[in-house]
Amino acid sequence: MPTTGARVGVLALQGDFREHMRLLESCGASVVPIRLPEELTGLQGLVIPGGESTTMSRLIGTAGLLEPIQEAVAGGMACLTTCAGTILAAREIRDGLPGQIHLQILDIAVRRNAFGRQLQSEEVELDIPAVGRPPVLVAFIRAPAIEQVGEKVEVLVTYRSQPAAVRQGRHLALTFHPEITGDPRLHRLFLATL
Ligand code: GLN
Repeated sequence: MPTTGARVGVLALQGDFREHMRLLESCGASVVPIRLPEELTGLQGLVIPGGESTTMSRLIGTAGLLEPIQEAVAGGMACLTTCAGTILAAREIRDGLPGQIHLQILDIAVRRNAFGRQLQSEEVELDIPAVGRPPVLVAFIRAPAIEQVGEKVEVLVTYRSQPAAVRQGRHLALTFHPEITGDPRLHRLFLATL
């Protein structure tokens, strides 16, 4: 059932942006792919997808999107990030490439590929009180770990003793992929705050 008419961008440089776009559209959002700075105008929310954070960093630099995204966030745009997107949104990246560009939107420190190869692709049911029952089926794919959170960061669920979904104000950051398994409840939670 549509829940929102919010205008939401999905960073579409690399990664699984199409899955996010489909899920957001099924939630009733008006969705636009973002590849250029001027496309950020008028967005209430921005989704930064999973993929490969080092590649996305390079493409964000090439597209000149770093400062425009930071400015839009300062102007009130909220972000939903998954996996590589969460790495990019972190205040600190551990095991990143030297000089890896990141957006520093959330007060979290994130370690890339923290779970090693055994979590290259694992589907897990997570009990996330903020979205209710039943548990949410999600995919962890070469997932990062959120190793440190600042005072203003609320932990919504942990996995293997580490935060896996966190909220800071209206920003929501996940180390997993609900967009791949297709459960729309975390996207709805994000849209409901816009
Ligand atoms: N390991 C990837 C990275 O460092 C993230 C994987 C993902 O987004 N599924 O960017």
